[in-house]
Amino acid sequence: MASGPKRHLRVAKAPAPAPAPVPEPMPTREEVEKAVRVLLRWTSDDPNREGLIDTPKRVARAFEDWFSGYKEDPELYLSRTFEEVEGYDEMVVLRDIRFESHCEHHLAPIIGRAHVGYLPNRKVVGISKLARVVDAYARRLQVQEKLNAQIAKTIQNVLEPKGVAVVIEATHQCMTTRGVHKSGVSMVTSTLLGAFREDANTRREFLNIIGNPVSVQS
Ligand SMILES: [Zn+2]
Repeated sequence: MASGPKRHLRVAKAPAPAPAPVPEPMPTREEVEKAVRVLLRWTSDDPNREGLIDTPKRVARAFEDWFSGYKEDPELYLSRTFEEVEGYDEMVVLRDIRFESHCEHHLAPIIGRAHVGYLPNRKVVGISKLARVVDAYARRLQVQEKLNAQIAKTIQNVLEPKGVAVVIEATHQCMTTRGVHKSGVSMVTSTLLGAFREDANTRREFLNIIGNPVSVQS
């Protein structure tokens, strides 16, 4: 019954470090379909009615499509570069890259456009590859700031340009269809690295090209 004085606990040796989390195994398709059925019941509807009976199967397939980015290696898209560009060292910009993503907090769609620019340092890449990088990260569970930084850092790491700029404008359906229900608002984020961060002219030129999203002016 009698427990010792509590202060002894304070001088006890430091707790063992928590074991590294073991990633949970990939569920089977059957488990996923069952989970979707539970969500259908959560709506108060009847998962056995005709219109819903195949919904778990369809949702499982849709997830494979929406989240296919986990199976892609964005760095690989940038690994094939061209160095024979006649000394071209001006800004390369691909603007209005439409993407669809999903917010990691509500699984709700994030629909937006990304603008990607870089200042080459010998290596340039086929521009469609920039769009592939955007998609590979967008087709995962995301928050916009993380998506933005991942795209910029990947381009920086692989192409080693003099600078990278990524601006994303997107609407978050977790905000427009629920919660505060603010339609028509879009969120603008930006990651500016190297010359785009350090040189006001470079930054201005890029922002002019992409149409000056209001919140990135600096
Ligand atoms: Zn959300």
